[in-house]
Amino acid sequence: MRTETMDTRTIDDLAICGGAPAFAEPLHVGRPNVGDRARLLERVNDILDRRWLTNGGPYVQEFERRIAELAGVEHCIAMCNATVALEIAVRALGMKGEVIVPSFTFIATAHALQWQEITPVFCDVDPETHTLDPGKVERMITPRTTGIVGVHLWGQTCDVDALSDIASRRGLKLLFDSAHAFGCSYRGRMVGGFGDAEVFSFHATKFINSLEGGAVVTNDAELARKTRLMKNFGFTQYDRVDYIGTNGKMNEMSAATGLTNMESMGEFIAVNRRNYEQYRRGLEGLAGVRLITYDEREKCNYQYVVLEVDEEAAGLGRDELQQVLWAEKVLARRYFYPGCHRVEPYRSYFPHAGLLLPETERLSSRVLALPTGTAVGPEEVEKICRIVARAVSHGAQVRERLRERASVSESPDKVSALASPAT
Ligand SMILES: *Cc1c(COP(=O)(O)O)cnc(C)c1O
Repeated sequence: MRTETMDTRTIDDLAICGGAPAFAEPLHVGRPNVGDRARLLERVNDILDRRWLTNGGPYVQEFERRIAELAGVEHCIAMCNATVALEIAVRALGMKGEVIVPSFTFIATAHALQWQEITPVFCDVDPETHTLDPGKVERMITPRTTGIVGVHLWGQTCDVDALSDIASRRGLKLLFDSAHAFGCSYRGRMVGGFGDAEVFSFHATKFINSLEGGAVVTNDAELARKTRLMKNFGFTQYDRVDYIGTNGKMNEMSAATGLTNMESMGEFIAVNRRNYEQYRRGLEGLAGVRLITYDEREKCNYQYVVLEVDEEAAGLGRDELQQVLWAEKVLARRYFYPGCHRVEPYRSYFPHAGLLLPETERLSSRVLALPTGTAVGPEEVEKICRIVARAVSHGAQVRERLRERASVSESPDKVSALASPAT
C-alpha cells in the first residue's frame, strides 16, 4: 500500500503536464454530510402538517435539547447561523472597546465584533494547535480590553485552562467560537461548557449541518435568558417587548435537518476518521508536508484534513501544490488565507498588524485543506495522496511546469466562481 502510494517515478501523467485530470467531477472541501433522507422527509411532512414553521417550534426545541445534552451544558439557544449567534453572544456578554481574537480564523469571528463597533485585536496562534497563544494574549491586553474570543480551529481546542485563568485574573469575558468543534472534547469534557459561552455553527460545510444554523450554549442562566430575548426582537411575552433585539431565529426545516444529521454523527465521524487515517498513512514520510494531528485521548469530529506545506523541504509552495491539485479537479482550499488582518476593513485599520502575527503569517501561507467527509471515499483519498506524493517528490520539476503553464492556465482564483460555494 505504502510503496504504491509513494510511486513517484514521473510527473508526466499529472494534469498540469497535459495528463487527464484524476477526477471527472470536482472534489470539494466541505461537501455537506447528509443523514437519513427518509427520516428527514418524514420530519418535513410533520412540519407542513403542523404549519408551525418557525418561532421556537417543536423541532427547534428538540434540536436545542439534543445539542445541550451532547455538549453537557444547561442552556442552548439555536439560531439562524453562527455569525448572528456570535454577534448576539458578544452583545449579551457586554463586550465593548477591544476584544482579543485570533486572525487565523474564518472572517466571521472578526466581523461579529467589528459589526458592533468593537475592535478586534488580532493575536497570534500556537504553531502546533493553530489556536490562540495564551502567553501572547496576555500581552495584548490594554485598559480597553473587555474580552477574549478563542477559536477551536479544526476541532483542536484552545488552551481552555490558560485562557480561563487569564480571563478570570484580568476580569475579561471569555467566548469560544466553536464552529469547528461540535462533538469534540477538551481534557475529557465536551466542548460547549467552557468560558462564559460557546457558539456552534451548523452551516452546510460544517460537521453537522442544519442547512444554515448556529447555537449559543452556556451554563449561565442569565446570559441564556438575555440571548434568547435578543434573538427574538426582545419579546418577553406574546405582545410585550422589553429589550433591543434582532431576528436570529432558527426555523423548523433547519432544526429537522440538524436533528436528522445528528442521528448519523457516529457514521460521519467514522468516515471522517477513516479518511483522515488514510491520508496520514498515504502522506507519511513525505518531506515537506505534514498533516495536523489530533489528540487521540480526546473526542474529535475529524472534519478537517489540514496539510502544512514547507516550501523549502517540498521544493514547491502551498499555492503551487494547490494548482497541481486543482488541475486534477481536487479543489483543495487555503483555509484561512490570507488571515483576517490582511483583508478589509482590518488591513486598512491595522496596516502593521502582521508584525505581531508571525505564526499566523507563516500558517496562512502553508495551510491547505483537503477534501474529506462522507462525499469522499478510500479510492479518492488514495488518488489524492498519490498526486501529492508525486508533486512533492518532484518539487523543482513541478515548479518549472507551472511556470511554463502560467500564462495560459486557469488559476484557482479564476476557477473559483465555477467551483465550491463553501465558506
Ligand atoms: C463557519 C464559521 C463561522 C460562521 O458560521 P456561519 O454559521 O456560517 O455563520 C464562524 N467561525 C468559524 C471559525 C467558522 O468556521
